[in-house]
Amino acid sequence: MANQGIQKRAFTAVAYHRFWECLDLLFPSRCAGCNELGYRWCSQCDEDIKPIQGAICFRCGEPLADLPSTGSCHCASFLSNIDQVRSYAKYEAPLSTAIHKLKYRRDIGIAESLAKYLVKLYNSIDVEADMIVPVPLNKKRYQERGYNQALLLARPFSYEIDHPMRPNALIRKQNTRSQVGLNRFERSANVQDAFIADKKFVKDKVILLIDDVSTTGSTMDACAKALKKEGAKYIVGLTLARAFKTKNGYSDLISIEEFTQT
Ligand SMILES: [Zn+2]
Ligand SMILES: [Zn+2]
Repeated sequence: MANQGIQKRAFTAVAYHRFWECLDLLFPSRCAGCNELGYRWCSQCDEDIKPIQGAICFRCGEPLADLPSTGSCHCASFLSNIDQVRSYAKYEAPLSTAIHKLKYRRDIGIAESLAKYLVKLYNSIDVEADMIVPVPLNKKRYQERGYNQALLLARPFSYEIDHPMRPNALIRKQNTRSQVGLNRFERSANVQDAFIADKKFVKDKVILLIDDVSTTGSTMDACAKALKKEGAKYIVGLTLARAFKTKNGYSDLISIEEFTQT
């Protein structure tokens, strides 16, 4: 796995990466994007990811070119707590394929490969963070899946940027239903007040919230609401991918339907 762009790496980052390389030697994997044998994430899939570039809405990160012809973003009406949301790329193959394998096919090794995109994203924004918090899964989903994919991404990311990760700073108190298939307003209502933060970790802190995909940003905003209630200073949500609106709804819904048919 290439790791261009990461100059000085903390010992834990190198050790964690070596650990996964040893597992690769013992259990050769297939690329989570294209299925090529011998890679967790091949160089071709790496090249095929097109980072979001150009002008974006400062708050929600929506590319201005994707907004309706009025050119102004109305995200302030439904994102009132989070300060910025940034995603590395749009939610499309091969990144979407890899994220699905991480979430639904227990391909947990891919998280260590994909975390480098979060590092690149963090290096592209003008924010000096104090700590990293993964978006918590609800208890039922965690029991079904056995792991939280956001935490699996946040761990190598925290090692690489050498900042502490605090998964206990935020918990999910309700068993909210999946956001998939809900519109913007339903998504927001579904997660409002679903989180509770711990003041001893978050007070006066600049926090990076980590998740795999953002759609409307409503989950991130609900997390930010809980964190700010306990005194957090500034919250930036970082995700690998950003789902986008299609004529059939958000692209995360479409992909899940496609995925379950394969
Ligand atoms: Zn590949
Ligand atoms: Zn916006």
